[in-house]
Amino acid sequence: MYYLFKFKKLLYIVCLSFISCEVIDDTNEYLLIQNCMQEWVKRTNGAILLETAPYGKEDVKIIKMGSNIFQGATIKGKYIIISNVTERIVYHEIGHVIGLMHEHQRPDSFLYITINYRKLIKRNLLAIYSFLPLKPSDFKYNYKNYIYDYYSIMHYNETESGNIIDGHGHALSGDEPSEIDIQKVRDMYAAKPLRITFALYGFN
Ligand SMILES: [Zn+2]
Repeated sequence: MYYLFKFKKLLYIVCLSFISCEVIDDTNEYLLIQNCMQEWVKRTNGAILLETAPYGKEDVKIIKMGSNIFQGATIKGKYIIISNVTERIVYHEIGHVIGLMHEHQRPDSFLYITINYRKLIKRNLLAIYSFLPLKPSDFKYNYKNYIYDYYSIMHYNETESGNIIDGHGHALSGDEPSEIDIQKVRDMYAAKPLRITFALYGFN
């Protein structure tokens, strides 16, 4: 199942390189994405520079899927695939592109939250969502330098995880980057600011 999902993702990417995508501009979704990019830039105070690029010249393709296949997914930092363009999802996916990892995948997350793996496996969701703990070397930053951030934009919340995560009484994730998310990005790129360009495509 897991590999099937990976294969499916890969297949989309192959298809996308053959089928011409429609360029999206001047829509509410385009404006929402631009606004999220600008907010990341503003809040991280010059640590990153995110801009829209001429189509075909971008570092990251944002692809709006017609059908509800991906609520949001980032693939190799080069593609963001979104079905529902919401502020929370756009902030989260940009978070992946600029180097943030899921907070609930910290190796020490078990100290703070409980993931119901039994439910996860029973519902066949292990392949679709990223729940399993990562290695310290998977993080671009030293996660131990930051307190566990229940409110991170990179934390799955109870609803989207199908009540698989128990935050031990803490609300999980917000709708925008948390103070700690911002701090991590500032720390990561303090020495050398990160520049990334994006273009938005539609694909039905
Ligand atoms: Zn994610």
